[in-house]
Amino acid sequence: MELKEIKGLGINTIDNLKALNIHSVEELVEYYPFRYDVYEKSDLNNLEDGSNIIIDGVVESKPTVIHFKRNKNKMSFRLNAGSKLFNITIFNRAFLKNNIHVGMEITVIGKYDFKNNLIVASNLRKGLLEKTVIEPVYHSSSKITSKRISHFINKALEKAIIKDYVPEKLNKKYKLMDKEKAINYIHKPSSKTTTYEAIKKLKYEEVFLFMLKISYLKKRKDNNGLKRNLDFSEVEKIVSKIPFELTKDQTKSIKDIYEDLISPHRMNRLLQGDVGSGKTAVAFVSLYINKLSGYQGALMAPTEILASQHYQNILKMFPELKVGLLTGKLKAKERKKLIENIKNGEIDIVIGTHALISEDVTYNNLGLVITDEQHRFGVNQRGNLKNKGVMPDILYMSATPIPRTYALTLYGDMDISSIKTMPKGRKAVKTILMDNKDVKKYLTMMLEEIKKGHQIYVVAPLVEESEKIDLENVYKVYENMNKAFHKICKVDVLHGKMKSQEKDEIMQKFKNNEIQILVSTTVIEVGVDVPNATMMVILDSFRFGLSALHQLRGRVGRNELDSYCILVSDKETKRLEILTKTNDGFKVAEEDFLLRGSGDLFGLRQSGDMNFKLADIKKDFELFKLAKEDSQRYLESQDYYKEEYNHIKELTENINNLD
Ligand code: ADP
Ligand code: MG
Repeated sequence: MELKEIKGLGINTIDNLKALNIHSVEELVEYYPFRYDVYEKSDLNNLEDGSNIIIDGVVESKPTVIHFKRNKNKMSFRLNAGSKLFNITIFNRAFLKNNIHVGMEITVIGKYDFKNNLIVASNLRKGLLEKTVIEPVYHSSSKITSKRISHFINKALEKAIIKDYVPEKLNKKYKLMDKEKAINYIHKPSSKTTTYEAIKKLKYEEVFLFMLKISYLKKRKDNNGLKRNLDFSEVEKIVSKIPFELTKDQTKSIKDIYEDLISPHRMNRLLQGDVGSGKTAVAFVSLYINKLSGYQGALMAPTEILASQHYQNILKMFPELKVGLLTGKLKAKERKKLIENIKNGEIDIVIGTHALISEDVTYNNLGLVITDEQHRFGVNQRGNLKNKGVMPDILYMSATPIPRTYALTLYGDMDISSIKTMPKGRKAVKTILMDNKDVKKYLTMMLEEIKKGHQIYVVAPLVEESEKIDLENVYKVYENMNKAFHKICKVDVLHGKMKSQEKDEIMQKFKNNEIQILVSTTVIEVGVDVPNATMMVILDSFRFGLSALHQLRGRVGRNELDSYCILVSDKETKRLEILTKTNDGFKVAEEDFLLRGSGDLFGLRQSGDMNFKLADIKKDFELFKLAKEDSQRYLESQDYYKEEYNHIKELTENINNLD
C-alpha cells in the first residue's frame, strides 16, 4: 500500500520517509523502534531541576495558546498533581487545545524547571499513569523526528494489512503472539512484558523467513550446470601425478568436487581447511578435471605473490597444462597476447589476481572458477568473475574456517568440504606470548633459529589508520632487527606499498634462503609457502583478530622442524592466550566469532543481506539454529511449489545469492 494512502501524510514527509528507506505502508509499520524510553512515575518530593520527569494529575486551568514566528506555538496550563501544582508548557501542540479541559486526568512527560515550577512537556497522555510508560524511539533524520515517525506509524497501523508468515504450528510451539498484535505492541508498548513478547514474535519471524529462503535455495537445485563427461579413473590418473600422498580429507574433497562437476547441478562449494592443510592441491586437481572435461578454468588469488606462487606450483605439478598468469604487473604487450590466448582457448587455466575480472578479459569457455582465500575479496569482485562464464561451477577456498554451526546456518545454500587432517609430518606451532619488555628474550630465541639455519618472519604492527605510520613502523622494526642481526644474517623488508615486482623478488629471495629474517606487514598473511621458515614474531599482536593471527602463524610449521610463533603484546593478553592453547583453526574461529561477531568473516558487512531489523546473528545464534531446523521441517512438510506457498517463492526471488 502506498504511503500516500495515509491521511495527513504530505509529499514532503513521504520524501523524508523514503530517505529512511520506507517506501510503503507495510515498510512503515515494520520500521521498528531501536530502543524504548521508559518512564516511571517521578517522586514529587524528589524532583531534580533539569531532569526528565513524568507525573500525572488533573488539569486546573484552561489551556492558553500563544502563536509566534511562523507555525510555532506554545500552549500552557496548570496541573494539580495532588500535593503540588505545576505550570505546564508544551510547544507546537496547539491542535490539542480543544481536547484538554479543566478537570481532566492527564499524564505529563517532560523536563522539570525548578525556578519556574514548570514542566516543559515533550508529551501528554490522556489519563493517570497507572504504571510505567514506555515510549518507542526510532532512528530519525534531520528532516523527520522520532515523534513524527511514531505518529505516522500509528496511523499506518490502522491501514496496514499485516500478514503473519510464521506457520500456525510454530506460533503454537513457541507461544508466539499474533503478528498484528505484535506489530501494535512493538510500536505502542503497554508493558515490558508485552513489548518483550512482541519482539520475540517479530524477531522469530524475521529469522525464520531468512532461514526459509536459504533452505529453499538449497532445496531448489538448479539444473543449469554444465554438461561434463569424465570417468573417475581419469581423476585417479591426475592424482597419481602428485608428488605426495593426499590426505584423507583432500581425497574426499576431490571426490566431492568431481561429483559436483559431473552432476547436472551447478557447483557452489566452499572448501575450507586450516592454513597449510593443502587446499591448493585440491584446487589444481579440480582445474585439471575441468580441463579434461572440456572447459577453461580460472583461479583467483588475493595477492600477486600468491598468484605467481600458484602459477609456479601448478606447472611444477602438472607441466603438461597450458597455464597463464594474469596479474596487474604484466606489460601491455604480454598482457595483450595473454588475453588473446585466453579468448581463443589456447590457455586451459588462468591464474591471477583481480585482474582476472578486468573488462577486457573474455574467456573462451569458462567452466570453473576458484577463488582462493575467498573472504578477502569484496562481494562484488567475486560476483563479477562468476558472471564471466555462462554458468561456471564455483569453488571458494578459505583458511578462515567458518565456525561449523555458523556455516551451517548462514551458508546453508552452499555445500562445504572441510580438510581437517593435516599433511603428514606437520608439527603444531609452539605459540608463546611475550611482553613488549621481553625483547632480549625473543631476540635470543631468534638467534637460535638462525644458528640452526632456519628463517624467520617478523610482522610489524599494522595501524591501518595511516599508511604512512604503517610504513614507518615496518622500517623501524626493520632497522632494529638489522641492528641486531646484520652481522649474522641478511635481514630485509616487505610491505604492501612496494611495486609488485619488488615484492616478488624479495619473496623469491626469501624462498631461496638468501634472506633469513623478513620483516613485513601482513602482505604475507596468505598462502606464501617457505618451509624452512620456523619462527614468526608478531609485534603488537593485539591489533589482529585471532583468526588472522592463526593464519599468520600458519606460515611456519610447514615441515617436520620445531617451529614457533611469538606473540608480542602488552594488551589483550587474555584473548591472545587462546592461541597458545590451540592450533585448531576451527576452534580459533569459534572463539573469534564469539569475541568479535561474524561481521567481517566473509565481508558480509558489504552485502546488505545480513541487515536484520531485530535479530543479531551473534546474540541470537540459538534462535538462528532453531529457525533453521524449523524452516527445513516446514519445507519438507509442504509442497512448496503449490500456489499457497507462493509467498516463499516471492520471498526468495529478490535474494542476492549469499556469496
Ligand atoms: P593451504 O591449505 O594453506 O592453501 P597449501 O595448499 O599451500 O595449504 O599447502 C601447504 C603445503 O603443504 C604446500 O607446500 C603443499 O605442497 C604441501 N602439501 C599439501 N598437501 C600435502 C600432502 N598431502 N602431503 C604432504 N604435503 C602436502
Ligand atoms: Mg592457500
